[in-house]
Amino acid sequence: MRRLAVRGAALLGLLLAAPLAAQGAQIVITVDDLPFVGAGLPVAEQARLTDSLLAAFRKYKVPAIGFVNERRLEDTSGTVDPARVAMLQRWIRAGHELGNHTWSHPDLHSTPLADFEADFLKGERVTRGLLAKAGKSPRFFRHPFLHTGQSLAVHDSLLAFLALHRYRVAPVTMDNHDYIYAEAFHRARLAGDTALARRLQGAYLDYMESVVLYYEKQAQAIVGRTFPQVLLTHASALNALTFPQLFQRLERLGYRFVPLDRALEDPVYDLPDRYVGTGGITWLHRWGMVLGLPASTYAGEPEVPAWVQQAAAR
Ligand SMILES: [Zn+2]
Repeated sequence: MRRLAVRGAALLGLLLAAPLAAQGAQIVITVDDLPFVGAGLPVAEQARLTDSLLAAFRKYKVPAIGFVNERRLEDTSGTVDPARVAMLQRWIRAGHELGNHTWSHPDLHSTPLADFEADFLKGERVTRGLLAKAGKSPRFFRHPFLHTGQSLAVHDSLLAFLALHRYRVAPVTMDNHDYIYAEAFHRARLAGDTALARRLQGAYLDYMESVVLYYEKQAQAIVGRTFPQVLLTHASALNALTFPQLFQRLERLGYRFVPLDRALEDPVYDLPDRYVGTGGITWLHRWGMVLGLPASTYAGEPEVPAWVQQAAAR
């Protein structure tokens, strides 16, 4: 049934393609957990998949931003691996921006703020050096799990700390569960089940299209207009091999790919975020909460079908 619901949403997407295009919809592609998510994949394979990600960006003229967890640069002995650093260098050489996603991906909701901030600083050591060689410096921070603090004291202290280090928060307005599809896809590939892998790719494309349409409707319901949206994705094999089709669908919906700094010039991003709940929710929903909109406003978020969740947990 859920599968049918997602298909229905995708169909609706085709019908809605014209209005979105007419409004010149804009979208930012953000990619978390660099250099790569793929436990069990040889580094050479991760590097090849990184090249596939970058080729998709090139083909569809996507000015992407990647958020790095520098712990992922280390090999099993805890040494920074030059082959993994080279993957980040490819991103920079291709003209994309890199931001800080902390060193070890700690959860702010279960980590003392001082430890979290230390992990943040540890998380920029390699990236800052790489960017400096290109005459750049890191400018954006993405909260792991989109957890921004369960009190205004922590929330605001972290913002002040980030400002001190000349970072700006990279908000997300289109959240989704791409990582569940990615895990299922990863397992299907490791098991050599190409039929399942292909089925997951198709389901993922339909799901992501329904996510994008849901958040466009949320934009209308919460701020009353379209604005440049920020899509969250991860550096996974699934995205490396499916981004070309996803970008094609986004283009068909009328989207233009824009860089994060340009999107954040829209005044909608000046709206306050005062959310101190337990969830990792989108900034669009944070704004809705500041406005005091009823919970029913957020209904209808696309769900991941049970068979995909099962394939991810197998
Ligand atoms: Zn992450």
